[in-house]
Amino acid sequence: MALARFKALDLAQSRQSTPVKVPSEKVTEYFGSLIFNEEAMRSLLSPDTFQRITKSIKEGHKIDRDTADEVAAAMKSWAVSKGASHYTHWFQPLTGTTAEKHDAFFDIVPGTGKAIEKFKGSALVQQEPDASSFPNGGIRSTFEARGYTAWDPSSPAFIMENAAGTSTLCIPSVFVAYTGEALDYKTPLLKSIELIDKAATKVMSEYFDRNTEKTIPTLGAEQEYFLIDEALFNARPDLLMSGRTVFGHAPAKGQQLEDHYFGSIPPRVNAFMVEFEIEAQRLGIPVRTRHNEVAPAQFEVAPTFEEVNLACDHNALLMDLMQKVAARHKFKVLFHEKPFAGINGSGKHNNWSLATDTGINVLGPSTKPKESLRFVSFLVCVVKAVHDNADLLRAAIATAGNEHRLGANEAPPAIMSVFLGSEMSRVIDTLENMPPMTEFKLEKGDNVYLKLGINKVPSLLLDNTDRNRTSPFAFTGNKFEFRAVGSSANSASAMTILNTIVADQLIQFRKDVDALIDTDLKKELAIVEVLKKYIKSSKRIIFEGNGYSDEWVEEAERRGLANIRSAPEALGVYTRKEVAELFEKYDIFTEKELHARYEIELENYIKKIQIESRVIGDLAINHILSTALKYQSQLVDNVKGQKDIGIEEKYYAPTVETIKRIAEYTAKIQILVDEMTEARKQANAIQDSAEQARLYGTKVKGYFDEIRYYVDKLELIVDDDEWPLVKYRELLMLR
Ligand code: ADP
Ligand code: MG
Repeated sequence: MALARFKALDLAQSRQSTPVKVPSEKVTEYFGSLIFNEEAMRSLLSPDTFQRITKSIKEGHKIDRDTADEVAAAMKSWAVSKGASHYTHWFQPLTGTTAEKHDAFFDIVPGTGKAIEKFKGSALVQQEPDASSFPNGGIRSTFEARGYTAWDPSSPAFIMENAAGTSTLCIPSVFVAYTGEALDYKTPLLKSIELIDKAATKVMSEYFDRNTEKTIPTLGAEQEYFLIDEALFNARPDLLMSGRTVFGHAPAKGQQLEDHYFGSIPPRVNAFMVEFEIEAQRLGIPVRTRHNEVAPAQFEVAPTFEEVNLACDHNALLMDLMQKVAARHKFKVLFHEKPFAGINGSGKHNNWSLATDTGINVLGPSTKPKESLRFVSFLVCVVKAVHDNADLLRAAIATAGNEHRLGANEAPPAIMSVFLGSEMSRVIDTLENMPPMTEFKLEKGDNVYLKLGINKVPSLLLDNTDRNRTSPFAFTGNKFEFRAVGSSANSASAMTILNTIVADQLIQFRKDVDALIDTDLKKELAIVEVLKKYIKSSKRIIFEGNGYSDEWVEEAERRGLANIRSAPEALGVYTRKEVAELFEKYDIFTEKELHARYEIELENYIKKIQIESRVIGDLAINHILSTALKYQSQLVDNVKGQKDIGIEEKYYAPTVETIKRIAEYTAKIQILVDEMTEARKQANAIQDSAEQARLYGTKVKGYFDEIRYYVDKLELIVDDDEWPLVKYRELLMLR
């Protein structure tokens, strides 16, 4: 008997819902109760300090020492009153997870038993984590293997409960090397936010609305995930080690029965969701929806959008929180992009737009003519930015996990394209086909918008947002949805790139429009003229059809659009000269930082494939092969016995066939695993990381599907009682 599997199944079968303590107050009363927000600051700080700190936060200025001390004192007493005993700077190193280093608020002076204060303004503003174990892509030599974390006051501090029942004040921070280079996701994101604020605000204030002083990118990140029973998860070494199943035959009841899964959520799952939502709301994360996804055991959580920096922090925090709460409910959350073959993968749909301090969503259509021109201008600039930088966007989402989705025929393809919807496409066509604006005759008293026909554009749009779920980058009525981001990714990576390329485009837009205005062309006509030019040069990126189809792959090739399927190749974009120049121009990444990121991503890729390959080898030989051969011996004995007692050959001939098939499959597996091990050795000997990643992605990974093919065949033959791995149907059936 495959003991581990059946023990796990017994355990999973016997689970009861974990009771959830639902607060008696309304959500509005406990929402944000665990964050040091404006309300908490107002009640604890002197009016003067409160003014200073909120001003610094709004304007992104440094905080002086006295203010920092006062804020630290207030933060500490607030945190202690909420039960916190420790504090930590909370940051997002390039490992992809979040990191913390807990320090106590108080220390006891040895021998005296007296408590001394440990949390001063300096500790709030800066902390020195033991950073030597975080990836740095060669930035830090062993001699200066230190970096520091610095408080990001634009994201509120929060309190996290630890498993032991204590809690910690977490201070959102950036993570920087002593030599100044960014070692995290947040630092470049903050820079890109500042950049796009300046660029978009200029466009707004000079062309559309003089009152605009600030423009902030917004993000609503829909998070897809799978939920698996903890015991079953632990009984699958592949899930445990690599986050995905490397073997497993598709269940009889799979995605073909989609309807069955959509709708009712099992009570145990519901309890988990209710609890993590309550905890998220206490932390000020505006989680909103919950429903089953298309695949069995797959779900989604979508918070209401927020400023992008906060939304990225909240997404990282939410992922962490979900895993913690899942443990209480004896679940494991799978954030991997493709945990199960033959079943939908998971993405993180990044809904993105720009919001002004005057309350305008610049990608929101409007019935007012002037606002329509604003809307179309921003929309076309985003399309052009994506067109001109499609490879860079592709690089931003290139990981080993996402490689299973992109271009794998059931997720957005590896080809970057933009979906606009039929109404918006028509608007773009009309605009493109307008006569040259230099020849456009305006009489005195003419309404320029009326004459241009721009007045009626977006009114059509307001309730005409058709959806195309196969597009990697879709306009969805009042925002763009970047759907190709991986479910395990830190959104900041994609958002930094998107902010930067759109900002770059908006800066160019102003130059182009101003140049025409300088030739005495009326502002509105100059804008239309530039937009026409942009549409012409970038419309090949617009695609309204089925992005999952083979026809699109061919069509995209005809259009000259890139289709970069492999992650290492996509990452290679970071080494292009023009890419380094773009980032240096705006001080988002220095060349050194960009190169470090490239190296880290390659290293992550290599490690992931290496681990998967080892797991495949280990499971195939030590679990599958041994089980299959044991079963085969039983069959051999059986056939011998039948022969002995004189059963006619025709009755045991099929069993002999089975014995032969097991012989064939096990032999193939053995040979392939040996070859794969050899390929790994060869790849490991390579010094150049790009070449090493390429070899891992082709030569090593090239064996995965083939080995799997034979293992999955054996799963259908070997006695179910003896099969060592929890089967797909068991993993995916939640109760
Ligand atoms: P879907 O049909 O894709 O589920 P929803 O209307 O539920 O679309 O919205 C998806 C996400 O988009 C939500 O997180 C929502 O808050 C976010 N969103 C809505 N408006 C904006 C915006 N202006 N900027 C960024 N995100 C937005
Ligand atoms: Mg969506």
